[in-house]
Amino acid sequence: MTLHVWGYLPEYEKERDDILDAVDSVFRSGKLVLGPSVKAFEEEFAAYHGVPHCVGVDNGTNAIVLGLRALGIGAGDEVITVSNTAAPTVVAIDAVGATPVFVDVDRDTYLMRVDQVEAAITSRTRCLLPVHLYGQCVDMAPLEAIAAEHGLPILEDCAQAHGARHHGRIAGSMGKAAAFSFYPTKVLGAYGDGGATITVDTEVEERLRRLRYYGMEKVYHVVSTPGYNSRLDEVQAEILRRKLTRLDDYIARRRLIAARYEEAFAGTDLVTPKTAPGNDHVYYVYVVRHPKRDEVIAALKARDIALNISYPWPVHTQSGFAHLGYAKGSLPVTEEVADQIFSLPMFPSLSDVEQEHVIDTLRDVLAKV
Ligand SMILES: *Cc1c(COP(=O)(O)O)cnc(C)c1O
Repeated sequence: MTLHVWGYLPEYEKERDDILDAVDSVFRSGKLVLGPSVKAFEEEFAAYHGVPHCVGVDNGTNAIVLGLRALGIGAGDEVITVSNTAAPTVVAIDAVGATPVFVDVDRDTYLMRVDQVEAAITSRTRCLLPVHLYGQCVDMAPLEAIAAEHGLPILEDCAQAHGARHHGRIAGSMGKAAAFSFYPTKVLGAYGDGGATITVDTEVEERLRRLRYYGMEKVYHVVSTPGYNSRLDEVQAEILRRKLTRLDDYIARRRLIAARYEEAFAGTDLVTPKTAPGNDHVYYVYVVRHPKRDEVIAALKARDIALNISYPWPVHTQSGFAHLGYAKGSLPVTEEVADQIFSLPMFPSLSDVEQEHVIDTLRDVLAKV
């Protein structure tokens, strides 16, 4: 049995009729760009989060870019975030001309150390950008207190946290705005690229709608520059509408898989994920830690199980971000965990048989390293 980290094909086999019907309905609607499916998805996705506004965009990176721009963030501004994230979080901050400022992460949850944020604030700080990484939320109450005290907006990066909850509040409803990705692997994934920015603020919503549409206020009249063509596609929107009705089922299946892993590796020296108090984890990735990570991965690969690392290189150590000036050692926990973490197969269509195969093989490997 060859096992890959993720593939959409098993899910497509199960949902094929519905997906093809979604595609056909768009093709037959006579409207391929910014039509009824995008509008309906925006309403349904906003309602799912209990927020008034959602603007569909072309991917998660641009959901952050447009979110930052709509909050007025640009050249010379500093945005506080983490280096243990998918690089696009930081790519987006850089793309609007702002400077990312990193705090370290917690050794147990791998999430933003909110207690380090205050010390990172300068006269140029304009935004706090927590990343709800791997499927659980950053500790929001102290972050919200800092934001209120310093008058800073919070933009949540929810690309990995669709449906996650924090003391009962859903991810994306806690900041002034929140960015989502619908990249195919995500907890809510399209059949291609997609993204959305949701917000509680009507002015932010208006700016988002302009920015994704060349900066135009009405057709052929540009009011905001630089503008973008950053629209969510009708076909992806219609597929996302169908899949949104199944999102809670996908999450339930992810939780069952996580519970089985947790049980199977209890008592081994594999460190399984810890859920912070008040969090309902959605397990976008199931991140484990082992001091001999590379040996474990090599042994599994020899037995046809390919595993991913999310993420092997902290953003501040990547050569494209050398200009930020972070020396090696400047974010010690981020750097330490990056050498030890890896991810076990986690997606709703992973079968019980496949999961047991992963568990048996990994337990065997762990007994030998
Ligand atoms: C996937 C992801 C993004 C970027 O989304 P794309 O749709 O791939 O552009 C941004 N932030 C995080 C945390 C992500 O996981």
